[in-house]
Order: sequence, then C-alpha cells, then structure tokens
Amino acid sequence: MAERIAVIGGGILGLAVARRLGRVVPGSTVTVFEKEHDVAQHQTGRNSGVVHAGLYYKPGSLKATLCRRGVGLLREYCEARGIRYEECGKVVVAVDDSELGRLDDIAQRATANGVPDTRMLDATELRTIEPHARGVAALHSPTTAIVDYPAVARALRADILDAGGAVRTGAEVIGVDDGPAGVRLRLRVRGSAPVAPNGNHHTAAVDGGTVRVVSESVGPFDRLISCAGLHSDEVAALTGEDSSPRIIPFRGDYWLLRPDRRDLVRGLIYPVPDPRYPFLGIHLTKRVDGEILVGPNAVLATAREGYTVGTVDRGDLRQTLSWPGFQKMAKTHWRTGAKEILRTASRRAFVAEARRYVPELRTADVVRGPAGVRAQAVARDGSLVDDFVLAVRGRVVHVRNAPSPGATASLAIAEHIVADAVPERTS
Ligand SMILES: Cc1cc2nc3c(=O)[nH]c(=O)nc-3n(C[C@H](O)[C@H](O)[C@H](O)COP(=O)(O)OP(=O)(O)OC[C@H]3O[C@@H](n4cnc5c(N)ncnc54)[C@H](O)[C@@H]3O)c2cc1C
Repeated sequence: MAERIAVIGGGILGLAVARRLGRVVPGSTVTVFEKEHDVAQHQTGRNSGVVHAGLYYKPGSLKATLCRRGVGLLREYCEARGIRYEECGKVVVAVDDSELGRLDDIAQRATANGVPDTRMLDATELRTIEPHARGVAALHSPTTAIVDYPAVARALRADILDAGGAVRTGAEVIGVDDGPAGVRLRLRVRGSAPVAPNGNHHTAAVDGGTVRVVSESVGPFDRLISCAGLHSDEVAALTGEDSSPRIIPFRGDYWLLRPDRRDLVRGLIYPVPDPRYPFLGIHLTKRVDGEILVGPNAVLATAREGYTVGTVDRGDLRQTLSWPGFQKMAKTHWRTGAKEILRTASRRAFVAEARRYVPELRTADVVRGPAGVRAQAVARDGSLVDDFVLAVRGRVVHVRNAPSPGATASLAIAEHIVADAVPERTS
C-alpha cells in the first residue's frame, strides 16, 4: 500500500531523509515541512563547510561510523550532481609539548575510524603543507574537504521533487496528533505557501499588514520523521517525548580574512581541541568560494536563531535558564563560558586565539563574518551530549542531537534512520 510520509525540517538532514524515503519506499508520497521561506536557512547554511574525515570521534560511535560512511556518499553525490567538492586537506596543530598527548589520541582515533592517509608531521613538515602555521607537531588529513552545503541541500530538494515528493516552505509544524488512523500535523502557514485542499484553515492573524498566517491541519501520515535542528526538543515534546535532552543553542561567530591576507592559509588549520567539549576550537577554514573563515567561538545564544549578540528571545532564554541540565553545566564550565564571552566582545582576543598557530595573523587582517547557532543537546545531568541521538517510537522518529559532523554525515544518517524506521524495505 502506498505510504504517506511527513518530514519536519528543510535542513540537510530532513532533505536527505526525505530523498532516501522516496527511493526505498516505492509509491510513497513524501512531504517536507519547513517553516522558513527556503531550505538551508539555519545550521545547514551557517556552518564551516567542512567535510570532516572522521578524526576525532569515539570509535564505534554513531558519529564515527556515520561520518566515515557519509564522506563517501557525499563525495559521490557531489560528483554526480556537479557540486564543487575540494579535498584541500587539514592540519591539526599542537602548539607546544603539552598538546602532544592529545594530538596522539586524535591520531589513534583517526586510525581506528579508518580515516585514510593521515600522517604525523614535525614542525618542518608542517611548514611544507601550511607555510604560515607554527607548532611542534601536526596531524595531517589530506582527504578532509570543503563543500557548499546549501548547494547540496538544493540538489536534494530537486531530487525529492523529481521523485514526486513535495517541499512546503513557510509551513511550521505546531502540533502533532499521533492517533489510530495515522499522524496528523497542525501547521502555521505563512505568506504565499499553498493551503492543501484537505486542510482546515482560517486566517488567524495578519502579520505586519501584509503576510497572511493561517493554520491548517494535514494528514494522516503513516510515518513522521522530525529533523528540526534547533527546535528538535520542542517538536519532540509535541509527541510527548521526554524533555531530556534539551537543545541549548551555542552561537559561533566567524571573522573573514581580508582578501590580501588569504595567502596565510592553503586549506584547513585547526587547533588541538579541548576534549571536555564537543566543539573543535577556533580554526582557519578555506571556503569553496575562496573566502577564509576564522572561527567559530562557542558562546551561549540568547535565542535559538539568534545570529547577533543583541538578538534575545525571552521564551528561548527562559527555557535555557530554567533547564536543570543548563544550570549544572554552567556551574562546571563557567570559566570557559566567560572566556568565550570575552572573545565575542573583543576582536583582538578572538584573533589572538588563532595567532597561537598562525603567528603572522594580525587583528587588522579580519573583518566581521557570518554566524551560526549550534543545536547542542544537553542532558538533565548537565552533560553535553556528544553522539548523534535518534529516538525511534513506532511510526515517529526524532533526530534529537545532530551537531557537527552532521552535515558531513547527512546522507549516511538518512540511510541509518530509514533502515531503522522502515526495516522491511531496507533489509
Ligand atoms: C557554526 C557551525 C559550524 C558547523 N560546522 C560544520 C562543518 O564544518 N561540517 C559539518 O559536517 N557540520 C558542521 N556543523 C553541523 C551541521 O551544520 C549540522 O549538523 C547540520 O546542518 C544539521 O542539519 P539539520 O537539517 O539537522 O539542521 P538545520 O539545518 O538547522 O535544519 C533544521 C530545519 O528545521 C526547520 N524547523 C525547525 N522546527 C520546525 C517546525 N516546527 N516546523 C517546520 N520546520 C521546522 C528549521 O527552520 C530548519 O530549517 C556546524 C554547525 C554550526 C552551527
């Protein structure tokens, strides 16, 4: 029997899952619901653009296995769709002897995860790869790459449409009713997004005098997959899922190298990360358009979609501050948090961090760049959830934690989710 499937979220994950479902469930009709006016408006369109090779992740974890599988799938996909994919390579630099032990741990994980061609470099060899980087040693990963993730997302959308599916933008899911006949969704539809003929709709508000906002009910669907990124905990709550883990938004600000200083960086230059955190530290990253990013830091965001310092959403902030997991996390990590706030306020402090491994970098070499917000899941006990987390409950699947390398792993995460959700079609 033909299945009706709904996917929440038009980021790279929702689109990858919808495309995969359309392929393995013949005759299915797949609809993606995205609240923004276009796809890839949040994490997918606001990240470092790196295709991680799988260096850091605990062997056997979902991050390790799906990142490795995802790299191969993404490279093939980009080749097939003519999307630029550049293996510019990456060095992880130990700036002094105190970092050598941790660099060695990363090298061992890389080997255990099957990352090809990694090699330890001494200080002289490092300079042959990245002439302006300085350190006592470095781990080189020549297959780490860069890609245009929004272009990948647009190609995935085209595949979904070609296969007869639909991607409805301007359609926010605000209610989920998982009843005996299937899953019905309540939508808040903005602007010119079409209203389905079977939807119950009424004009609920007039926004700014021009934008029409209507509510609509759609369904029933046989399956629902939620890939709601920064809102994944809120969408999970709509189906009665546990409130743990909660999404705590961490903003990452970037600076851009001035064009005449881009020659300081050939590929990707990373520090040895602090193993207490899932963030990789401020790095220098070449983008496919030739720009060089410096960043991102990791500072608590005062709104889930708060891309500037002044953006505050009182509801989001209240949710963060009242979450017991956040309070415990803040007690343990307040020193690091304070340092990150300083780096946000001061360009000099931000650049000083990157100057540790590229000493020629000056404060005047950078101009303000973009920002992204990470959807980082924090458990009730205050721990930052490291691995990808998927919750499968009958016909509903929630992606509850998909931080970096989530974009790299997206096609593999989609394979994995679909194999769990529709085992009879993929076994
Ligand atoms: C600063 C930063 C740097 C990163 N760098 C890298 C990197 O270099 N390499 C890498 O692999 N990964 C990186 N990541 C991680 C990567 O971007 C994410 O893992 C990936 O984009 C997750 O995709 P997603 O589809 O889950 O999330 P998103 O792209 O955030 O998409 C979720 C979508 O759901 C929609 N949505 C939410 N709620 C609703 C609702 N109720 N109804 C309808 N729609 C809804 C949102 O509008 C959004 O479009 C980085 C992330 C950040 C923030």
